[in-house]
Amino acid sequence: MQVKKFKDLINSVIDDHAQYQSTYKSFTPSKFLITNSHSERALKLLTKRLKDTYPFFHPHYAGQMLKPPAQIASLAYFSVMLMNPNNHALDGGPSTSELEKEAVDEIAKMIGYKNYLGHLTSSGTLANLEGLWISRMVSPKSNFAICENAHYTHTRLSQVLGFKYEIVQMNDRGQMDIDHLSKLVKAKKVGNVVVTLGTTGFGSLDPLHMIIELKKKYKLRVHVDAAYGGFFKILQNEKSKLIDHRPFELLHLADSVAIDPHKHGLQPYGCGCILFNDTSVGKFYKHDSPYTYFTSKDLHLGEVSLECSRAGASAAALWATLKVFPLNSKKGLYKILSSTRKAALRFQQLAEKNEKIKLVLSPELDIVNYFPNETSTAKISTESERIFNTLMNRKSKPIYLSKYRVNSDYLLKLHPNIRKNSEETIILRSTLMKPEHEQYVDEIFEEIVELVR
Ligand SMILES: *Cc1c(COP(=O)(O)O)cnc(C)c1O
Repeated sequence: MQVKKFKDLINSVIDDHAQYQSTYKSFTPSKFLITNSHSERALKLLTKRLKDTYPFFHPHYAGQMLKPPAQIASLAYFSVMLMNPNNHALDGGPSTSELEKEAVDEIAKMIGYKNYLGHLTSSGTLANLEGLWISRMVSPKSNFAICENAHYTHTRLSQVLGFKYEIVQMNDRGQMDIDHLSKLVKAKKVGNVVVTLGTTGFGSLDPLHMIIELKKKYKLRVHVDAAYGGFFKILQNEKSKLIDHRPFELLHLADSVAIDPHKHGLQPYGCGCILFNDTSVGKFYKHDSPYTYFTSKDLHLGEVSLECSRAGASAAALWATLKVFPLNSKKGLYKILSSTRKAALRFQQLAEKNEKIKLVLSPELDIVNYFPNETSTAKISTESERIFNTLMNRKSKPIYLSKYRVNSDYLLKLHPNIRKNSEETIILRSTLMKPEHEQYVDEIFEEIVELVR
């Protein structure tokens, strides 16, 4: 880690905070709360307790969607956490509410929303909860269409929100099967559609462009879960050739979009975001809070959010990050996402030339799914497990992958030569979501191949 500048900036954050406090009349802080030798011991103990954390920062960690935030995000978060504003109401976070509105506005512009309502949430799940809740409020009689590739939380949210749903099949690209959806729509079985741009498993893009056509014809309500893949919209905006533009082109016509700055927006947890392209849905949030909303007649974010307390530090971290990594040019987040996408394309290229490793399907963003070239589903599972464990547990140069359980019938549809002898198959999965992965993908691939029998 390049510590010099980082340390300098942490020091200046602490100095700035002391400066800010000194503008108020001095007082004697409680002796209970100031840092002392107990704090020091607690921190040492904490460091020890953290030793089992996987090295998310390292390019050899190519497993789940996990990586440390950008340093600017950590610094801004720390800076604002020292004040601890609450973006529920302007009473709690007047400055950071402004930062939240500006940061959300950048995301809305990236998506192409003009008249929108939006705010940050503590997670993608919460953002989706709000999206589905509003869908349900707008068309209470409609059932939902949820694809089998969708994040597991959507069907569970059906219990929270009390809606019924139909499961849409996934096609051989890991996307929502548009023919199946059309059938359900024409049979009037569904009216609300949950579309995923960037599925958690395969990183696939549901055909939003076709779903928007159906929406026009049949008046569907469309919520897009872009928790993981949403920021790739920048690549389409900037005309990059690295991704399929079509699913992103009509994103601004979706009724709501959930997108996670803590997935691909370089943020610490928890930072999700929900946007609606119709400000009138604000009426469904209407409530009164006898404790808050006093300092200003301007919109308090808590008035249009399901959550009450939310970290002002989270908004500040995103705001500061977007100053360094803007969303509207080739110079900011674009560079990072192009790089992670190239890492996935390189992995694909290596796998297609190699007999020992097979891709489940072509990656669309920066997640790759692959398996050792074995003859049966059970053998693929045991070999995947073995490779996963060996790479992770070895002393020298450990490499971290993740596993993914797929339906064997689905795998066989894509790879008919495999013999089915188990209902599910464990395969390997890597999220190549750090810019360093582009440089390390060859090495990671070689290490995996080396272990295939
Ligand atoms: C991660 C993810 C979620 C859940 O978001 P959290 O921030 O983990 O709550 C939902 N949908 C998709 C597609 C995701 O990748």
